[in-house]
Amino acid sequence: MEPLSDRLRLADNALASYAVKHGSGLGRVHPESDDATRFPFQRDRDRIIHTQAFRRLKHKTQVFVAGLRPDFGQAVSGKDYGRQAGHGDHYRTRITHTLEVAQIGRDLARTLGLNEDLAEAIALAHDLGHTPFGHAGEEAMNACLMPYQKKFEHNEQSLRIVTVLEDRTSAYSGLNLSQEILEGLMKHRTPHDTPDAPSIPRSASLEAQIVNLADEIAYTAHDTDDGLRAEQFSLSNVQKTRLGFLASKRAEIRSTELRGAIVDALVVDLYRETDFRLKQEKILTIQDVYAARKPLVSFSREMQTSLTELRGFLWDHLYKSDAVQAQAKRGQNILTELFAAFLESPPPKVLELQKKTDGALEDAVKDYIAGMTDPYALQAYEGLKESRSKK
Ligand code: MG
Repeated sequence: MEPLSDRLRLADNALASYAVKHGSGLGRVHPESDDATRFPFQRDRDRIIHTQAFRRLKHKTQVFVAGLRPDFGQAVSGKDYGRQAGHGDHYRTRITHTLEVAQIGRDLARTLGLNEDLAEAIALAHDLGHTPFGHAGEEAMNACLMPYQKKFEHNEQSLRIVTVLEDRTSAYSGLNLSQEILEGLMKHRTPHDTPDAPSIPRSASLEAQIVNLADEIAYTAHDTDDGLRAEQFSLSNVQKTRLGFLASKRAEIRSTELRGAIVDALVVDLYRETDFRLKQEKILTIQDVYAARKPLVSFSREMQTSLTELRGFLWDHLYKSDAVQAQAKRGQNILTELFAAFLESPPPKVLELQKKTDGALEDAVKDYIAGMTDPYALQAYEGLKESRSKK
């Protein structure tokens, strides 16, 4: 086997001149010697996959409450969960969404000559900070923190998980990931997210920008697929949108699913537009990327309009549908009640977290609840009701 330094150099030579190199450029907070075999971003990826937060993504909601029927206004109780779970097994959860983002992100990176390992690692960590019950849960958590002049934002929570909450050594908190990954998480902004980002001295790497759009491509395509499966709308409804129409024509010709055709349309457009922008802005080095003032990875204006239209369609017919809203409301109530109860009488886990992070009680409660899976939150809520009824 060739020494790592030779393999790093070979791999770097194969990258585009504006890619983030494999050898650690920005480094880690706590300096580490090189691994014997893995590239730095491969180590980062492995650390992310081995977190508890990553494993818990499998039971966190994407759109439909994980494992429950889409027409389920009432979430099932903890003890019935396993019995009911079969009904919703084919819908996306936070973990399958994450894998789809990583897959699309890697494909985009490879085609554009960018660093696949970096894109993959950012993608795998991008949603670690999600609460139970999807964006509805995030809103509830944000409302709970409002009286303290604090906010909840899943991107920031993802960053907090990898820098503070998860451990890999007793020497320090966090995973000691490469700075490129951390900046990729800070820069992770989608239309769902709040606009005020923590400040970093550079623009996002192309790899980080790719993950941003891979996220949007993945959820647009899979939410359309899940919405069709749940019969929240019909194929002829989606075809009334421009992107839905174009993609369904392609799917028909190839006898494939609509989901893949949506991904294809968006990905192909992104290549063309990004290529154009890199040339137009004369981007030649990573320094040019860091200094750029506008996004370099992008859809064309025409495709952006079509995408916004399809997002609007999904908003009206899926995210705001009675079925999804009923689940969302119930999820929000659960988190709000748990927050109040844990503040009043903090369970040992919360006190442990407060001690570890040396912060305010409300932050420890937030960290604890945000880390829960849907069924665990449900179970905690059932436990709360039971103990109250005994009083
Ligand atoms: Mg995401």
